Amino acid sequence: MNEKHIIEKYFHKHFEDASIVRGIGDDAAVLQSRPDHQFVVSTDTMVDGQHFVSQTPAHAIGYKLMAVNISDLAAMGAEPRWATLNLTLPNYDEGWCEAFSQGLFECAQQYQTMLVGGDLTRGECLTVSVQIIGEVPNNQALCRNTAQVGDNLYVSGCIGAAGAALTHLAAQGYDHSQLSEDEMQSLYYPQARVSLGIALRGVAHACIDISDGLLHELEIICDQSQVGADLNLDNVVCTSQLPKIDAITQGDDYELLFSAPSEQHATIMAMAERLKCQIKHIGRVTEATGVVMTHQGQVLPTPNQTGYDHFK
Ligand code: ADP
Ligand code: MG
Repeated sequence: MNEKHIIEKYFHKHFEDASIVRGIGDDAAVLQSRPDHQFVVSTDTMVDGQHFVSQTPAHAIGYKLMAVNISDLAAMGAEPRWATLNLTLPNYDEGWCEAFSQGLFECAQQYQTMLVGGDLTRGECLTVSVQIIGEVPNNQALCRNTAQVGDNLYVSGCIGAAGAALTHLAAQGYDHSQLSEDEMQSLYYPQARVSLGIALRGVAHACIDISDGLLHELEIICDQSQVGADLNLDNVVCTSQLPKIDAITQGDDYELLFSAPSEQHATIMAMAERLKCQIKHIGRVTEATGVVMTHQGQVLPTPNQTGYDHFK
């Protein structure tokens, strides 16, 4: 097996798509841009021992790698279109490559994303990285720095299920056979909220995905928009497996947190219905600085660590 064979066998898929002028096989891909659209580009890396334990099934790593990248585009209100894949493998393992590529393409296909290139190297530590490229109509991207005082705050989905699954997995010595189907889904097969992000164009003022924890991401919106926030924990739907304060700080949830003017409330509730996606009104953007959290009528102190940080 050489490099070329590995790429051909697992990663070189042909897409009948007019946007791909030149795909895998050349020095670089050539992609046709759409008029009146802007590119939205992001990349996320997962490292063995940092983002997943070595016992993690390869299929799950492949799926999640693609999903977390697509989630970043969802948070921008963008439509994912193309991806490139950088792989650093300690050795060639046929079963691993097969399962990893299947997981990766399963997710890519679900969101109509096409793999158009990448790189393959040998290295001591298994490291997988995707760069995702999407499109948004001109100037409609949803940013983090545009929340306005008086906006309502909303979050999609149920928070903390991935954190709870990870806690359970750790307690089982990382034996994946001990996880339920639901736990596997929440930990490794997150659903990126692409349709929601697209629907929020022109409706939301600011948006972020909550991969590093709801509280931490809210602080980022506040910081970048130079506003404060009241967060009512009573309205945040969390897993019953964890205390709420843990659920909103553990991270690894790929839901969207967004702010929108109160006139949009009915539109947002109708959107939730139409997309069959739970959306909760969880607070308000204020003039103060920082986040004030309340739970059952009490103001809660902000924990020291509000979310995940590799260098903290
Ligand atoms: P070069 O040496 O010119 O960088 P490579 O041998 O790295 O070329 O890659 C050859 C082709 O295969 C390129 O089109 C590249 O984008 C693609 N490619 C390499 N690795 C991967 C991968 N892991 N997944 C998908 N495409 C890949
Ligand atoms: Mg290369």
